[in-house]
Amino acid sequence: MILPIVAYGDPVLRKKAAPITQDYLKLDELIANMFETMYGASGVGLAAPQIGKAIRIFVVDATPFADDEDLSEEEQAQLKTFKKAFINPEIIEETGDEWAFSEGCLSIPGINEDVFRCPNIKIKYQDQDFKEHVEKFDGLLARVIQHEYDHIEGILFTDKLSSLKKRIIKSKLAGISKGKTNADYRMRFPEKKGR
Ligand SMILES: [Zn+2]
Repeated sequence: MILPIVAYGDPVLRKKAAPITQDYLKLDELIANMFETMYGASGVGLAAPQIGKAIRIFVVDATPFADDEDLSEEEQAQLKTFKKAFINPEIIEETGDEWAFSEGCLSIPGINEDVFRCPNIKIKYQDQDFKEHVEKFDGLLARVIQHEYDHIEGILFTDKLSSLKKRIIKSKLAGISKGKTNADYRMRFPEKKGR
């Protein structure tokens, strides 16, 4: 089932999300819905707060990035098959020289800006069967994971922009919370009046 995506300005996007336990009700259904919602909006990642739940889950499918010809064959192959749900993740390490990449967010449609992040991460997480993994990621995969991880910490990519950039997009962000956007997927706006 496709769920509405929560727009910028909703307090749920600012909460530090809570861990979940193995007895969380209908977890498989929730994760399936998150993937479906993400695909419906042509996204490469979606975090639970974006569907209104302040819990520590995000899903990633980096397949659309695999066509980037600037990437090595190895990286393309890795991206092509990368589809994962991360439960109770914890980034243990971020290393390397920060690099810029133009990010966007399904909760902030129409805004894309360069964000600087470290290229290498080490992350601990549980899979859908609550089996624990510790893995290293780099490049675009690390980038998507860092963006989604920020969501469960209550952080948005626009927080990481320069104060000048923040000033420039301020009114656009305010518009998004009021429903002024032409996103082609279902959204829920915190400040939209009426229905
Ligand atoms: Zn996002």
